[in-house]
Amino acid sequence: MIKKLSFVSILMLGWALPAPATADVRVFACEPEWAALAQEIGGDKVSTYSATHEKQDAHHVRARPSLIAKIRRADLVICAGAGLEVGWLPLLMQRGARSNVRPGKPGHLMAAQHVPVREIPTVIDRSLGDIHPEGNPHVHLDPRNLTLLARELSKRLSVIDSQNSALYSRNLKSFENRWEMHMKKWNIRAAKLKNMPVVVHHKSWSYLIGWLGLKEVGSLEAKPGIPPTVSHLNRLLKTVSAAKAKAILRTPFDQSDPSNWLANKTNIPALVLPFTVSRNAKPGALKKLFDDILAQLEKANGRP
Ligand SMILES: [Zn+2]
Repeated sequence: MIKKLSFVSILMLGWALPAPATADVRVFACEPEWAALAQEIGGDKVSTYSATHEKQDAHHVRARPSLIAKIRRADLVICAGAGLEVGWLPLLMQRGARSNVRPGKPGHLMAAQHVPVREIPTVIDRSLGDIHPEGNPHVHLDPRNLTLLARELSKRLSVIDSQNSALYSRNLKSFENRWEMHMKKWNIRAAKLKNMPVVVHHKSWSYLIGWLGLKEVGSLEAKPGIPPTVSHLNRLLKTVSAAKAKAILRTPFDQSDPSNWLANKTNIPALVLPFTVSRNAKPGALKKLFDDILAQLEKANGRP
C-alpha cells in the first residue's frame, strides 16, 4: 500500500521525510591523498576536507582562520606527518583542535608513523637542509603504504564511530581486494622501468622511486628545501648526462626553471608528474594517480 503512495501524498499525509544521511565522522586531511583514502574506507559515513589542493606545496601553508575553523570540527585529523606540516599543523592544533584529535588519540593519524620511513638522517645538521629531519615524509607514492594506511584508517574509524565498524571493515576488505589487483598490474609495468635513471627536483619521489626500483642520479635541490643554485646545476649537468638520465621529475608546484634549464641543456625530458589527487577526488582517483604517473614514466623510458 505504501508503495503506491506518491511523494506528494506522503507530504500531504504529513509524514516527515527521512533526514538526508548525515556523515558521522568529519575528517580533516592535510593533503588530498589522505582525504581520498578516508573516502575509500569511510564511504558515506565520513565527510572529508583537505587543507591543501593538488597544486599546492604542503611544506608551506598558512595557518589561516578558515583552516582553524575546519580543524575545530574534526573528529579525525590525518596528515603525512614526519615534519611535513611542521610550519602550520601545530599552530592549527593549538588554536582549534579538540582533545579527541590531539597526538596519542585515535583521532590523530600521522601516516609516516605507520609505514617504513625512508631517508632518516643519521646526523641532524641544519647545514644538510631544512626540511626532513624526521626522514622523508612523502610516503603516499608507494602504493604499499596506502594499504597500510587504509588498514589504520579502518581501525581508527571503527573506534571513533563504533556503530559503523562493520561497514569500515567491509570497505577496507573491498579496497584491499581492488588495490591488490591494481598492484599486480603495476608491478608488471614496474619491472620494465627498473633501474630507469631519473633526476628529481625535490625529494618528493623517493617512495615512488623505491617502489619502482628507479635510480635517482641527481637532485636539483642540493639540500632538501633549499632552492637549486647555479653552481649545483652546473655540476649536475655533467653527472646526469653521464648517468644517461631518462627524465627530470618535478611536481606541479615545484619551480619550473631549474628542470627546464637542465632539460634544454641535456635533451632529457622534464616531466611534471601529478603528485596527488584533486581536492574533492572521486572514488578511484588514487588508482588513476598511479596509472598516470606510470604512463608518463613509460613514455620517457621508451625514448631512444
Ligand atoms: Zn619534502
